[in-house]
Amino acid sequence: MKNDFFKFQAQTTPFPLAIEVEKAEGIFIYDTSGRRYYDLVSGIAVCNIGHRHPRVITAIQNQLEKYLHVMPYGEMIQSPQVKLAKMISSILPDGLDVSYFVNSGAEAVEAALKLAKRFTGRTEIVSFHKSYHGNTHGALSVSGNEEKKFAFRPLLPDVRFVTFNEEEELNAITEKTAAVIIEPIQGDAGVRVPGQNFMRALRSRCTEVGAMLIFDEIQTGFGRTGKMFAMEHFGVQPDILTIAKGLGGGMPIGAFVSSDEVMSTLSHHPMLGHITTFGGHPVNCAAAVANIEVLREPGIIDEVEAKGQLFEKLLQHPAIVDFRRIGLMMAIEFKDFDTVEAIVKGCLAKGVITFWFLSNNVSFRLQPPLTISTSEIEEACVIINAVILECDNA
Ligand code: PLP
Repeated sequence: MKNDFFKFQAQTTPFPLAIEVEKAEGIFIYDTSGRRYYDLVSGIAVCNIGHRHPRVITAIQNQLEKYLHVMPYGEMIQSPQVKLAKMISSILPDGLDVSYFVNSGAEAVEAALKLAKRFTGRTEIVSFHKSYHGNTHGALSVSGNEEKKFAFRPLLPDVRFVTFNEEEELNAITEKTAAVIIEPIQGDAGVRVPGQNFMRALRSRCTEVGAMLIFDEIQTGFGRTGKMFAMEHFGVQPDILTIAKGLGGGMPIGAFVSSDEVMSTLSHHPMLGHITTFGGHPVNCAAAVANIEVLREPGIIDEVEAKGQLFEKLLQHPAIVDFRRIGLMMAIEFKDFDTVEAIVKGCLAKGVITFWFLSNNVSFRLQPPLTISTSEIEEACVIINAVILECDNA
């Protein structure tokens, strides 16, 4: 299998993890030799309620008995889609009431940018240095990592970048700006939490000049930061929200969410202003409904912050230069990339999956399922600490 993986499947890096997966359950992934790994990255912030949560599995099985794909998004009334849209509205503030389902995070970002242009009649997009919004052309255009972009230019015109968490730079947002897109907490920059004043000033500036504010909560949503959505930490809300990753309970689904007034512009002039064949696949919507039901139960999101604090308390070593964390979204920084690489590989060899960031090569990430138990945190931290010690002594 391994040879065929390298021969027939396109590769993304010269050094994939290459664990041959047999099954996954809770916070564990098992390989074909029966080896168990602590998954401390949740498939990159996807499996927030763990792998194969029984409620998600049952919802999928029930939907399999009824229908799979029947028509492209938006034509037929499919109860899993309707239920999910209503449920998303119930966990968001007023003004974020209408969902459009797509297949991935990048697609949600693409559509959100189009929606902002369509609604405002403007073209300029403002984004932030070190941001990450996905890998399609539009999403890459508004991502702030030049190293990942240069080979694919030209990208979208009329995109400006400003510095994250710098209030003075918000003057770059003007009457020409269609949208400002921001991760309320930058994920792939290595977990950067902005100040509340900055987020409030950003909201005010967008309102003042009539620019749409897009929050990309693709990584921060669904309990990851200790709230259902990261926006709740700042007391501000966007005009358009993008979600994916943790929405589907392990199934691929994304959405962009806005008000009825804004969203309705996509259905006329031109009609079919955004379309997708598979968006809101009924099986994925059914899984997402079950996923949100589980997340809303007591004992999951309300325990996230304490679990994050436990990680922070247990992972202590003088070689750690910085520990950035909110909820169970963590970046642990060391002096250089070589140390980080040795730690990620050392942890993997000892059965703990950690991972790199896209735009911060001196930190590694921990984003375990929110359902991880105290004893699982303790066990995993013993292993990580041992690896840090080994790497520091090497
Ligand atoms: N936006 C953010 C903040 C992300 O973290 C990601 C993925 O890591 C994306 C967008 C892109 O999502 P996807 O990989 O589903 O296209």
